[in-house]
Amino acid sequence: MAEMNQTAAEYTKENPFVATLVENRNLNKEGSAKDTRHLVVSLAGSGIEYTVGDSLGIFPTNHPDVVSAILARLKTDGREPVVLAEGDEPISFQEALETRLALASPNKKILEGLLDFASDETDKAKIKDLLSRENREALKVYLAEREIPDLLEDYPSVEIPAQKLVALMRKLTPRLYSIASAPTQHPEEIHLTVAVVKYTTNGRERFGVGSTYLSDRCPLNEPTLPVYVAKSHFRLPEHGDQDVIMVGPGTGIAPFRAFLQEREATAAKGRNWLFFGDQHASCDFLYEEDLKAFQERGVLQRLDTAWSRDQDFKIYVQDKIRENGEAIWEWLEGGAAFYICGDASRMAKDVEAALMDIIQTYGGPAGPEAKHYLRRLRQEKRYQKDVY
Ligand code: NAP
Repeated sequence: MAEMNQTAAEYTKENPFVATLVENRNLNKEGSAKDTRHLVVSLAGSGIEYTVGDSLGIFPTNHPDVVSAILARLKTDGREPVVLAEGDEPISFQEALETRLALASPNKKILEGLLDFASDETDKAKIKDLLSRENREALKVYLAEREIPDLLEDYPSVEIPAQKLVALMRKLTPRLYSIASAPTQHPEEIHLTVAVVKYTTNGRERFGVGSTYLSDRCPLNEPTLPVYVAKSHFRLPEHGDQDVIMVGPGTGIAPFRAFLQEREATAAKGRNWLFFGDQHASCDFLYEEDLKAFQERGVLQRLDTAWSRDQDFKIYVQDKIRENGEAIWEWLEGGAAFYICGDASRMAKDVEAALMDIIQTYGGPAGPEAKHYLRRLRQEKRYQKDVY
């Protein structure tokens, strides 16, 4: 009975709802170098509510090959019990590796810990050398290219009991993805747009934990996916008659698909302008059909695309933004809100620089005054970012 009384509000990071993945489809077409999934997660029966702009937290499990590599190297079947923290119920070492511990991105602490369990002088010297002050940069590179099995392989004399290794490892954390659907159109499900992360380092193929769990390992139509809604400050304007400008290359499109669904469902009168970009128009135009349908129904007034690899030189969303500087300035002066979603390291900064140029070029204040203009936009919640 207690379970039946559980309310949606009780589903949190600490107490996630076990949801069901009901759709898993590649949005990239033949010829693409990328694999971006459209995923539909059913929340049926949970009562969970969400708002456009929120993210979904998911608890992935690790790649079984990485788990097996650790078990094989430590010559164990993984059945011995371990505790993750003092006072916790013991679970098997295998379960801890599969569902609770981070197997990638090892830190310095692990290497220091392994030193105590190395018996061979060469192994000890190699670890000490990496940990030395003068090798700080080399250590960063070394760790960035390795996962736990690589470390165990690099020092064959290390014999570490399961519990000791567990104590050195970091916990596996949930992964957050911007929600790509609106509750007004999909009340019982959440859509996600996830780039599948696969790459090679140190001669081995690596699998991004969250994205490859969703794309390759999470079963369809079985309630096995623990999720929770993470509330966000990334919000549409309160008033539907305000215009919005959305900049979302790559997976940055996700919350804007949700915004457009919401603006349509609420019959918002404000205009919508989307800047999207990716490598090739022919195979990387994520949600092309959806976006064209939004245009045909009069929901999306302007759509500008930047295909970075369809010519000899790069064209990015900020180039399209600059080309449309005058119109963007008019929209902003008319009260529009400006949103950016996607890559934090370069794209968001470059888009902000383009926005600053526009503010200075078209009637706006020059120099430091332009910063004040941007600050005011931020204060009025008319400049928002969801970047990662
Ligand atoms: P993406 O790689 O961010 O690329 C989308 C488009 O943005 C491409 O046309 C890309 O062009 C272009 N782009 C590259 N640099 C840019 C810049 N400075 N300004 C504006 N546009 C720029 O798209 P995604 O599909 O969302 O991500 C793909 C992979 O990158 C995924 O594996 C994802 O996890 C990873 N990613 C990581 C982070 C992060 O860890 N901080 C952030 C974002 C994405 P070109 O590639 O042709 O240069």
